[in-house]
Amino acid sequence: MNAKLDSTIANRPVTRQTFDEVLVPTYAPAAMVPVRGAGLDLWDQNGKHYLDFTSGIAVAALGHCHPAVVDTLTRQANTLWHLGNGYTNEPVLRLAKALTEATFADRVFFCNSGAEANEAAFKLARKYAHTKFGPHKSRIVSCLQSFHGRTLFTVSVGGQPKYTEGFEPLPPSIDHIVFNDIESARAAIGDDVCAVVVEPLQGEGGVMPADPAFLKELRELCNKTGALLIFDEVQCGMGRTGDLYHYMTYGITPDILTSAKALGNGYPIGAMLTTSELAQALSVGTHGTTYGGNPLATSVALTVLEIVNQPAFLARVKEASAKLRSTMEKLVADYSQVFGQVRGAGLLLGLVVTDAWKGRSKDIQRAAEANGLMVLIAGMDVLRLAPALIVSDEQIAEADRILRLSLDQMIKAAA
Ligand SMILES: *Cc1c(COP(=O)(O)O)cnc(C)c1O
Repeated sequence: MNAKLDSTIANRPVTRQTFDEVLVPTYAPAAMVPVRGAGLDLWDQNGKHYLDFTSGIAVAALGHCHPAVVDTLTRQANTLWHLGNGYTNEPVLRLAKALTEATFADRVFFCNSGAEANEAAFKLARKYAHTKFGPHKSRIVSCLQSFHGRTLFTVSVGGQPKYTEGFEPLPPSIDHIVFNDIESARAAIGDDVCAVVVEPLQGEGGVMPADPAFLKELRELCNKTGALLIFDEVQCGMGRTGDLYHYMTYGITPDILTSAKALGNGYPIGAMLTTSELAQALSVGTHGTTYGGNPLATSVALTVLEIVNQPAFLARVKEASAKLRSTMEKLVADYSQVFGQVRGAGLLLGLVVTDAWKGRSKDIQRAAEANGLMVLIAGMDVLRLAPALIVSDEQIAEADRILRLSLDQMIKAAA
C-alpha cells in the first residue's frame, strides 16, 4: 500500500497550472515546463524542442547533463554525500587547492549560492575592518543597478530599490554610487568604508560592462582608504567572458571574489575567495553553513573547473563569443527599429531595445520561445543571451534565425 501511495505521488500529473496552486508566487515562469535537457537542447512536457540560450541564467555553462559532470555526480552520490563541518573531505580540499592555484586567492569559503558567497564577503569585510581599524569603519559601497543576491543584507547592498521595497528596516551603513562614474566613487569612498563591491560585468542590471578606468579607480581608492575591493563574479565568472574570471581580463585584482552559478553547472554551490591575511578575520566559529563544501557539490565543481580552466576550452569560448557578437551586431543593424545596441562581454550579451520598443524585451522573449529559442531578459529593455560555453557556431546561427523569424512576426503583427 505504501509503495502504491509513493508511486502515485511521484508520478502524479503536474502542469504549469500546479505552480500557481502550490508555489509561493515569487516567480512567473513560462507556460511550458521543460522536462529533459542535453547540451543546449531542452524538451518540454509536450515533446517540443528548444534551443537554450539561457543556461539557467548563466549556470549550466557546460550544458545540460554534461557526461563528465553526470559521471562525477553519480560516482560521488554512491560514495559520500555529506559530513558536516566537524569533518573535512577530499573533494573540498581538492577544489580549494584548484581554485587557489587558478586565481589570486589563497583561501576559499564554500557555501550554497551567490547570495551566501556575497554575504560571507560582506561579513568578512566588516569583521576585518572592525578588528583592524575599529567599529567606525563599517560602510559598504556598491553600485546602482547592481545585483548581489536576495538575503536581506545582499539585497540591501544591491543597487535596485525595487527589490528592497517593503522589506524595511534595512541594514544600515550601505551607500550606492553610479556605476562607471569615477566622481561618484571618489565622493563616496572615504575612511569609514570597509568594502567596495562591484560586478565587473553587471548582469541583472542590464548587461553593463565596467569601464577599465572605473575599476582601476576603485582599486586605487580602496588602496588609499584601506577598504576591501570585492568583485562579484557570480554571473560573469567561470569562463563566461573567455577568461576563468573576468578580473583577469581587466588585470585588476580584487581582495575578495565571489563565485557561484556556473561553478556547479546547476548543482548548488557558492565560493568566496580571498587572501590568507584577510581570511584570518573569519576565525573558528565566526561564520559557517551546514552544506557548504559538502562532497557532492565540491566534486561536481571540481569537474566543472577542470574542464573550463583549459586553454583550449577558454580559447573556444573567446572564438564563440566573437561569433555571437558579430552575429548579433548584424542582427541589431538589420532590426534597427527594435534594437539600438549590443553590449556585454564574452557569452553574456545584452541587446538593448530602442525607445520605440521600450518595455518589450519580455514580449520578444516570449515570441522567441514560441519559435523554440529560450533567451533571457535583463529588465524590460534588454534581451539577454547567455548560452552554455559549449555553444557551437551552428547553434549561434540557429538562434539568429529564430530571433529574426520572431522579430519579423512581431513587426508584421504590429503593422
Ligand atoms: C545571481 C547572482 C547573485 C545571486 O546568486 P544566488 O545563487 O541567486 O543567490 C549574486 N550576484 C550576481 C552578480 C548574480 O548574477
